[in-house]
Amino acid sequence: MSRVLDFVRDPSPIRRRRALELARRRALQAVSSVKGSIGSLCRVCGDTTLRYQRQVLWDSLIDAWALTPAEHVAIERREGSQCVSCDASLRSHHLATALLEHLQQFTSSPISSMADLGLEPVVADLASLRVAELNSCGELHPYLAKLAGLRYSEYLSEDPAVPHEDVQALSYDDDSFDLVLSSDTLEHVPDFVGALAEVERVLRPGGTHIFTVPVLWNRPTSLRRAALENGEIVHLHPPSFHGVPLRGAVPDSLVFMEFGADIADLIATGAIDYEIVRDPEDSTLTVFVGQMPVEP
Ligand SMILES: [Zn+2]
Repeated sequence: MSRVLDFVRDPSPIRRRRALELARRRALQAVSSVKGSIGSLCRVCGDTTLRYQRQVLWDSLIDAWALTPAEHVAIERREGSQCVSCDASLRSHHLATALLEHLQQFTSSPISSMADLGLEPVVADLASLRVAELNSCGELHPYLAKLAGLRYSEYLSEDPAVPHEDVQALSYDDDSFDLVLSSDTLEHVPDFVGALAEVERVLRPGGTHIFTVPVLWNRPTSLRRAALENGEIVHLHPPSFHGVPLRGAVPDSLVFMEFGADIADLIATGAIDYEIVRDPEDSTLTVFVGQMPVEP
């Protein structure tokens, strides 16, 4: 590794790039089997499942995010370690785990996967729950759609059949929801803290906000890549996109915030009390579970 580090410090950009590439490839080989996943329960589809590792990141994103080999591996695992039955990533798996733990209080039927939300008694027990899904929660979405009180929207909807909701200026009334959900959306919003304030506005007292965003906890400070000034996007750093690049397509999902450990301070600015649920073995698998105070 010291040899690799020597090359990383090498002033030649080509040698530095090759050395980083080699380190990344070695690190990716190490992630090819995901501990504890064989024969485990998928919290999304409910199958006893295997996981497979798909490579999901691409060079321009890795470069823009300046991912170290270890960070690269962690993000690949978070996004690319997928259930063979339903393709749910580890991120979705952990979001589902936190969500199911929350929903269990509303039903006496055991719910161990998102698929259980379709069971007859569970559907009835959860029928009065008012839920906002701000941007599709990926593989969780078809199961969330079984909730009678679901209001589903996309942050940047181009489909006229799917309502668009700006997380910073929701069209919903105050105290409209018991539960607000989003999965890797708030890093694409110009005003993250403002978006949390808006979630706070639409949640009832005692309501819950569950969300994920990518966080690199080894980085003390979050990086603001872009800002919105007088309605115009201003790039403070070269633009980075999370939209999968397709040949000839305009890149999408511009990143406004790359979160580091100080996200703990950013989420503490409002009234919602957030618990940070981190996987003990992989801190990139983090779910934020926020509770509105019962008394305003
Ligand atoms: Zn699954």
